[in-house]
Amino acid sequence: MAVPRDILEDLKTFVEVEIQAGRRMAPVDAEAAAAFLAAKPAAPAAAPAAGGSHGVLAPPVAATVHRPAAAASSRNAGPFSEGAAERSEAGGVVQHSAFSIQHSSGAQGAPEGGVAGRAAAAADLAAIAASVAECRECNLALTRGKAVPGEGNPNRPDVMFVGEAPGRDEDVLGRPFVGRAGQLLDKMIAAMGYRREDVFIANIIKCRPPQNRTPTPEEMAVCIPYLRRQIAFVRPKTIVALGATAFKGLSGDPLANISRHRGTWCEFEGIPMMPTFHPAYLLRVPSAKRVVWDDLQKVMARLKSPNA
Ligand code: URA
Repeated sequence: MAVPRDILEDLKTFVEVEIQAGRRMAPVDAEAAAAFLAAKPAAPAAAPAAGGSHGVLAPPVAATVHRPAAAASSRNAGPFSEGAAERSEAGGVVQHSAFSIQHSSGAQGAPEGGVAGRAAAAADLAAIAASVAECRECNLALTRGKAVPGEGNPNRPDVMFVGEAPGRDEDVLGRPFVGRAGQLLDKMIAAMGYRREDVFIANIIKCRPPQNRTPTPEEMAVCIPYLRRQIAFVRPKTIVALGATAFKGLSGDPLANISRHRGTWCEFEGIPMMPTFHPAYLLRVPSAKRVVWDDLQKVMARLKSPNA
């Protein structure tokens, strides 16, 4: 039986977190991994997207990566944790070797006059939202309910959270992060001392992929000009990339590894960016909440510093 890509991705993250925590994948851990795999509903393999083949991302341009001194990991599971039972050692110091993140510039993958042209022409956030609502540039338009442009504080918020794509609840309401993962994101936002309306929340992909499958690289490439334009208007002080897809999309690197880079500052177009795990992953692996709280505390610390 072929294991769907998003489940493999989650399982890989799970194993990497265990290894980073110094836990060996002993038989009991393998059982935990198998239970984790069994708990996730199967999604069908990605359907081909309209137009293009794999690898349509434009050649990346270099972006800056800050490699902080190894952070002392808080032993606090964090206020959005559900209890001591979730405490894990996963936040142990992770040493990254030197690396550089690349992100693509411009409107990769989208034809002139397509998403890139419309996004560039949008005069404000409302115009982007209207353009998203009318968009038919990929097959997701055929199956979506409502497009989900994003929402929040448009005036240079402290934080912009970027997720993957709308799920079922978002597809019904046309608003980002309103399902179970969204409720956890709300707790994360509150734990940071903000209200939801203080921050901006958006996704790499504006329309729900069928069965919540992982967006294809082609879909990401077509859709991302909307997000880039939103970021240009909103001018957040920091970006939190939630999960592998957001990090891959914003870094422009389809192979970017969220478990390796989470907790490490990088930049998107000069804006400090913190990659961390997606709230949906935390619902499946609650023990990872503690490292996410560590990551969010780094964001809070940076925003409090005079140079933020
Ligand atoms: N997951 C996401 O990545 N985005 C949403 O809006 C909801 C769930």
